[in-house]
Amino acid sequence: MNTKIVKTDENHIDDIAIKEAGEILQKGGLVAFPTETVYGLGGDALNADSSVKIYEAKGRPSDNPLIVHIASMDALPAIVKEIPKEAYLLAEKYWPGPLTMIFRKSDAVPLTTTGGLETVAVRMPSHKVALALIEAAGGYVAAPSANRSGRPSPTLARYVIEDLDGRVDMIIDGGEVNIGLESTIIDLTEEKPVILRPGYITEQMLAQALGEVETDRTLMQQHADLAPKAPGMKYRHYAPKGSLVIVEGREEAVVPYINAQLSEAKAEGLKSGVIATEETKDAYLADCVKCAGSRQDEEAVARSLFRILREFDEEEVQVMYAEAFPRDGVGQAIMNRLLKAAGYHVITV
Ligand code: AMP
Ligand code: MG
Repeated sequence: MNTKIVKTDENHIDDIAIKEAGEILQKGGLVAFPTETVYGLGGDALNADSSVKIYEAKGRPSDNPLIVHIASMDALPAIVKEIPKEAYLLAEKYWPGPLTMIFRKSDAVPLTTTGGLETVAVRMPSHKVALALIEAAGGYVAAPSANRSGRPSPTLARYVIEDLDGRVDMIIDGGEVNIGLESTIIDLTEEKPVILRPGYITEQMLAQALGEVETDRTLMQQHADLAPKAPGMKYRHYAPKGSLVIVEGREEAVVPYINAQLSEAKAEGLKSGVIATEETKDAYLADCVKCAGSRQDEEAVARSLFRILREFDEEEVQVMYAEAFPRDGVGQAIMNRLLKAAGYHVITV
């Protein structure tokens, strides 16, 4: 398949390109596009065949459901059985934005889109290119992250091209994304709202809007006996090619510990890397030290994490260490992604 690559940014939307992309989606084709979280791989959410094509293009297991993207609240009733009052409260505050809500699905949504579930995940993104594309496509775009399954979610079009060139009809390059981590997912189909995936919209922000919210217990540690409630969270994500270990503790202990490990790696002739912060980056002796940003600015850390994991792969780093982050606020989402990338390998010093 020949993949057409077009550029457009939020401030100057190329209407002709968006119209063409919308037509591709309406005809059952695939278009990768920027959102504020990460790039998405879009197909018509109400077309069962399009969803099958998405799974194929990503190499994604078909029991891992897709998120349906809408551009206005008017689009919601047609795809869900009921809209709980919590959904209105959250939509009021956080839509458009990086929050996905789980509803009971209506018959309009094919089971291929929901990975066989009777529930559907819905998000209204805030990225203007995404919103224009959803409108042009007829209102419902199923879109998982635009990476090959198991790779870090793409934060730049370059990475989408790397993973999906030749596998999709069009890639829209809208520059670097803003947030860099996938949306927060909250399930509204149970008695109490439950967070199934942490993200930029934090537990505290959700609790502020709803009162009490729970977090799926499987998110921050490995539970051999429990499956996560979001089917996708059970798969090892973002696995870098080398080994990754997270080192948790006070800075005065973490830096020397990592440096000692780096010397060992060097002695064994292994290429090493560290995910450091602005505060510590000059203290490490690794072959590749990547600064994720300042500890004072966790949003910057979130934005750079997936890019750094991809850079380590590009540079063929074999042994990697990452500093840990506080497990609350945006840090919870950063640690959730880091833990998955590290296969939950954490050392406390
Ligand atoms: P991605 O689009 O790559 O960010 O993946 C979508 C995520 O949403 C996966 O982790 C899915 O398991 C999760 N998801 C989508 N639909 C549902 C649903 N109906 N119930 C629970 N989780 C869902
Ligand atoms: Mg994904």
